[in-house]
Amino acid sequence: MDLGLQGRTALVTGADSGIGLATVKLLLAEGATVVMSDIDQQALEAAATTLDAQEGRLHAFAADITSTSSVKALKEQVFDAVGEIDILVQGAGIHGPDGLFHEIDEEGWQQTLDVNLMGHVRVLQAFLSDLRSGGWGRLVFVSSEDAVQPYDDELPYCASKAAILSVARGLSRTYAKEGLLVNTVSPAFIATPMTDEMMDKLAKQRSISRDEAIQAFLEEERPFMELGRRGEPEEVAAVITFLCSDRASFVNGANYRVDSGAVATI
Ligand code: NAD
Repeated sequence: MDLGLQGRTALVTGADSGIGLATVKLLLAEGATVVMSDIDQQALEAAATTLDAQEGRLHAFAADITSTSSVKALKEQVFDAVGEIDILVQGAGIHGPDGLFHEIDEEGWQQTLDVNLMGHVRVLQAFLSDLRSGGWGRLVFVSSEDAVQPYDDELPYCASKAAILSVARGLSRTYAKEGLLVNTVSPAFIATPMTDEMMDKLAKQRSISRDEAIQAFLEEERPFMELGRRGEPEEVAAVITFLCSDRASFVNGANYRVDSGAVATI
């Protein structure tokens, strides 16, 4: 199936690892020009060197999405390099603090919301005019199963992901008639640095290996993940890339779960 991505230009945030990096790879393979962005220039450049792209089709600019000036600078760099973008994938995110509500202070809440909600708002404010200008645009946010199924020991994360679902649904009403389609992808327990860190913490607490921690987590915390394993970043990237494509021309305001059944409701 030709996704019709040749000639399109995409910006992917959170692009130096995990789901973001896998998405950059697929968008490149489908012929798009891609700008990858993440917080650390060195890590970003290291990730870019692992990718196979024809001259001029891959660009990498660091930006901290908690800083308005950094995002504005990113906008200028992107414009100078590739002009306006047609596709924005907002993959940047942090897990934030673990703990029950009474164990998490205001700073923990602020930091999480500043990246996972306000970071995405800042990036969209900078690039919305690009996405609206050509009569064809795609905006995909990476939310989480946690948005609709909150776990009581990671509420700032869950709340930030629920907020993104709400923002995306609202945006999908405003801009669809202009050709800008807005959707979300909600993964569960994907093998990325984010969940590696969670599993290493659990392994340390219980004096077990990372693999044993993954199995324990699946059995105790994610019983509805019917495939009984962590997902791969490429399995999420495939859905994101489809939503970025011409083939998703009648998909708007949707939330695609990529979770092997993790969410317990219909
Ligand atoms: P990841 O840690 O590999 O990717 C997140 C990226 O966001 C990192 O590269 C990080 O540097 C970047 N980032 C963090 N703060 C930033 C900032 N201030 N400015 C710019 N970039 C920043 O983990 P991932 O699992 O690939 O996460 C990608 C997205 O998927 C996140 O939004 C995450 O919440 C979401 N998600 C992941 C899972 C999972 O199981 N891994 C499940 C559901 C949702």
